[in-house]
Amino acid sequence: MKKLSVCLLLFFVFSIITFARQQYRRPVKPTKNVIVMIPDGTSIGVVSAARWYQIYNNSGGEHLAIDPYMCGTVKTFSSNAPIGDSAPTTSCYMTGMPQRTGNVAIYPVADPANDLVPVDPDMAYQPLPTVLEAAKYQQNKATGLVVTVEFPHATPADCAAHYYARGKYEYIAPQMAYQNLDVMFGGGNSILTDDIRQYFKNTGTVLIQDDVEAFRSFNGKEKVWALFGERELPYDLDRDPETVPSLQEMTQKALDRLSQNENGFFLMVEGSKVDWSAHGNDAIGCISEYLAFDKAVATVMDFAGKNGETTVIVLPDHGNSGFTIGRRDLKSYDKATFDDLFKNVSKFRKTGEGLERILLKSKPERFKAIFKEYTDIDLTEDELNQLLSSKNYKEADYMKVSNSVNMASVIIKIMNSRTYFGFTTGGHTGEEVFLAAYHPDGDIPVGMNTNVEINRYLCAALGLKTPLPEMAKEIFVKHTDVFSGMDYTIDRSTAFPVLKVKKGNATLSIPAFKSVVYLNDQPVALSSVVVYIDKNDTFYLPKSLAGKL
Ligand SMILES: [Zn+2]
Repeated sequence: MKKLSVCLLLFFVFSIITFARQQYRRPVKPTKNVIVMIPDGTSIGVVSAARWYQIYNNSGGEHLAIDPYMCGTVKTFSSNAPIGDSAPTTSCYMTGMPQRTGNVAIYPVADPANDLVPVDPDMAYQPLPTVLEAAKYQQNKATGLVVTVEFPHATPADCAAHYYARGKYEYIAPQMAYQNLDVMFGGGNSILTDDIRQYFKNTGTVLIQDDVEAFRSFNGKEKVWALFGERELPYDLDRDPETVPSLQEMTQKALDRLSQNENGFFLMVEGSKVDWSAHGNDAIGCISEYLAFDKAVATVMDFAGKNGETTVIVLPDHGNSGFTIGRRDLKSYDKATFDDLFKNVSKFRKTGEGLERILLKSKPERFKAIFKEYTDIDLTEDELNQLLSSKNYKEADYMKVSNSVNMASVIIKIMNSRTYFGFTTGGHTGEEVFLAAYHPDGDIPVGMNTNVEINRYLCAALGLKTPLPEMAKEIFVKHTDVFSGMDYTIDRSTAFPVLKVKKGNATLSIPAFKSVVYLNDQPVALSSVVVYIDKNDTFYLPKSLAGKL
């Protein structure tokens, strides 16, 4: 008897500790709606330059929309590397577990020599539920994703799919389609499959493709996907509003649709291509992409302020490019005027990629005039020759293809030579990133937060009853455990492996990467997706499936 009470006491204490360990460090009153906004790869220097640019061009006042909400920083990293990649960093925000580069909401493979956090080798490749999935599964909230890249790209995938390699769109895209998102706005028309289109038909999901009018006039209650472009959307500065909506417009449309759900909603909005501009060291690209994102922040904070039941956090996933205002060749940096630093960049009316698109279609003799028109730069003969000998300029005399770089990077080099913005790399950087937040009761995550703490904050703001690790034991259980002792085989004859389980006369067919199974060929909808990992030949699926047979 005495032994039993001691065990009970220990179990009780242990569950308190585990529960406490998953709590955020201060009380957070749950709200009906939770919105996460991610300016991908945005180092703080870009934010400062965007604000100065806005002031210099008198295009929005002294403050950015984000300014009143700045509240701390985030230490973001991968499980075995201080410098993060888009896939593992947002995956950690969504799941609470740091992961390795390329990982999409999946438990990392242990790297004992380098791991920065405890990693259990036995958990490798275990799909990890995300806060988006939990909002839907536990609270029947509406869910939405708004991005400016193809829909299965790293950050949106991190919220709604699971795989160890971010590039495997063929396994990630169906999961996102079968997640039954209420809203998916972004790019990636070339990635849609007939199976996904059929699933949308079966579920009454509205699919809008490259049709901005249909998008603008949509105000239905259906689930809706609106995709623009074969893959990513154009940069905001190069965007034609007649054919492609802005991030702000897509965000507003998402809020209009999701706020119809009586249980509330979870929304992730990504300013996806700040990161692309940073990788390209394109200063005007970084600035204009961040400003386009900041407009979406204004829309969201306006909604949250009026709505009164919405938590918002805004945070990059990692730094990029080492962007600075000021550079080694700016000797008299402390005497550099506002004009010295922002006059020229303010004349750039296209990103490097946008200007490249125009020049690639133009005759060499037009280059100087076109460059002048879009940047006010007078090209030198040497710069003109560099452009003409770019490897992707078809008109070029092939013998001149000396500098084998694309024209976009030549354009960006010329633009940067007329400014004093510095870049230390074309890759990600390891510094902490900014954090901004809004909560109707002021329960915001002040100070420096780790990526894991951000997840705890989101779980608290949603008011999740079942901690994510516990939820994994409900929806992502190994088929060998769920169907232990039963007769099951894996059919690999189709594009996606199918697990077949037999019991008596009944057969359950479970295709990978979807949320529909077939009991004696009759479709049965699941409230979570099934994940198959070839590395360990394992299906991860709801434990409740055993009860279907
Ligand atoms: Zn990123």
